Amino acid sequence: MDHLKALRAMVGESQVLAGADAQPYAVDWRERYRGQALAVVRPAATDEVAAVVRYCAQHGVPVIPQGGNTGLCGGATPDDSGTAVILSLQRLNRVRGIDTDNDTMDVEAGCVLQAVQQAARDAGRLFPLSLAAEGSCTIGGNLATNAGGTQVLRYGNMRELTLGLEVVTAQGDIWHGLRGLRKDNTGYDLRDLFIGSEGTLGVITAATLKLHPLPVARCTALLAFDSIESAIAMLGRARAGMGASLTGFELMAGSCLKDVVRCFPQQRLPFEGPSADLPWYAVLELSDSESEAHARERFEVVVGEAIEAGIVLDAVIAESVAQSHALWHLRESIPLAEKQTGKSIKHDVSIPVSRMAEFVLGTNAALQAAFPGIRHVIFGHLGDGNLHYNVARGPEWAEGQLLACQDQVYALVHDRVNAVGGSISAEHGVGQLKRDALPRYKDPVEMAMMHRIKAALDPQGIMNPGKVLVAD
Ligand SMILES: Cc1cc2nc3c(=O)[nH]c(=O)nc-3n(C[C@H](O)[C@H](O)[C@H](O)COP(=O)(O)OP(=O)(O)OC[C@H]3O[C@@H](n4cnc5c(N)ncnc54)[C@H](O)[C@@H]3O)c2cc1C
Repeated sequence: MDHLKALRAMVGESQVLAGADAQPYAVDWRERYRGQALAVVRPAATDEVAAVVRYCAQHGVPVIPQGGNTGLCGGATPDDSGTAVILSLQRLNRVRGIDTDNDTMDVEAGCVLQAVQQAARDAGRLFPLSLAAEGSCTIGGNLATNAGGTQVLRYGNMRELTLGLEVVTAQGDIWHGLRGLRKDNTGYDLRDLFIGSEGTLGVITAATLKLHPLPVARCTALLAFDSIESAIAMLGRARAGMGASLTGFELMAGSCLKDVVRCFPQQRLPFEGPSADLPWYAVLELSDSESEAHARERFEVVVGEAIEAGIVLDAVIAESVAQSHALWHLRESIPLAEKQTGKSIKHDVSIPVSRMAEFVLGTNAALQAAFPGIRHVIFGHLGDGNLHYNVARGPEWAEGQLLACQDQVYALVHDRVNAVGGSISAEHGVGQLKRDALPRYKDPVEMAMMHRIKAALDPQGIMNPGKVLVAD
């Protein structure tokens, strides 16, 4: 059977890529996973997606949905068999409509997140999902990974931001579930099942997203701490003093900011002297619906009291939008600096905030004892209890030497995450990176139910095989 010919008849000659043209799609963002695809197929409409999936189901061809390919767990990368079709959703990129009375917007899966934020802003609304890959990642990928980012503290992650979905099932049928309802108790919640399923149950083609009022004012500060305990104490104060106006609390190890400034010399840390050399910093942000003056007063009271109490050692409050962007830019550049510095061993973990200090200090010490001289690259969304707890080689480690120990490093870190009641994937998902670790940490009954759901919705196992679950 000439699959390429059949697929070209469905989506157009130029929208089926093979050979060298397909190769860039078969490598992940971090270049940790490389596969081979039979073809990359680029449909432009839901009907075309359905036709492609129906064809693949009839012929047992694996389907790998792909959006912006910015995922960090190898979820959108095929294996090296060359038998799978990468289904790129990038051409499904229309905003279908915005309903300002209902505060919702319908968008297609291939819309780039930044374009969705802008379309909402043009309509006088906020779509609050925000993450460093927002210029390339797509709404479909955000949904499939239940993405989080820097404003989860106030607005929630993708599940909380979504009301309805349109999905092409593993059989190639279309589920028309684009509902703009905030209440709908008519049975099982299939929407929340597909969100976070990483392309293993079906293809998300469109979504109805929730919109929020645009904040009237924003205040941003960079805070400096001498211990992680102080940073956690500040989070408590910010929650108490700012309530729902608290939109961001991003923790960063001082070493991460030093890497950013070294890799991107046009950026600078806005502290001098001892404050420029502290172990922990945080970006704090408040969004206010009343006025600039109201926001500023509230913000300065909370920060000022924390300085007086000795919790915050130094603070820079942004005086302009440009300064606020510069502070956020420091935070958002950490993964890019990390990529330049060399491959690290990444953990995207979620820990109860009350056990965060115990986890970080204990795990740092245990790693140093087992792998002396490694570097800790720690940053993340402290307000959500989500840390990117990454481990990089120190100067005395040869290139590749630490990566050779990655299974031991994963096991050490994940065992400690488990011991403090955390999760081994807070927001990036499982993909292929954590697939084999999952059964070790998840309740066996939960794992068995996940396998049964997969078998019920995708009995042939064509949807993104080898991701999330080990095949039965
Ligand atoms: C610099 C950087 C910073 C990041 N920061 C964050 C962060 O703060 N928070 C966060 O949550 N993530 C973050 N990420 C990870 C990544 O950007 C997100 O996971 C994003 O949501 C992935 O979107 P994508 O379109 O690139 O998906 P892809 O990488 O293309 O795919 C990711 C997964 O979703 C599946 N998929 C994609 N589209 C569909 C679809 N339409 N239907 C069904 N399945 C689909 C794929 O099969 C794959 O399993 C970051 C990544 C980078 C590179």
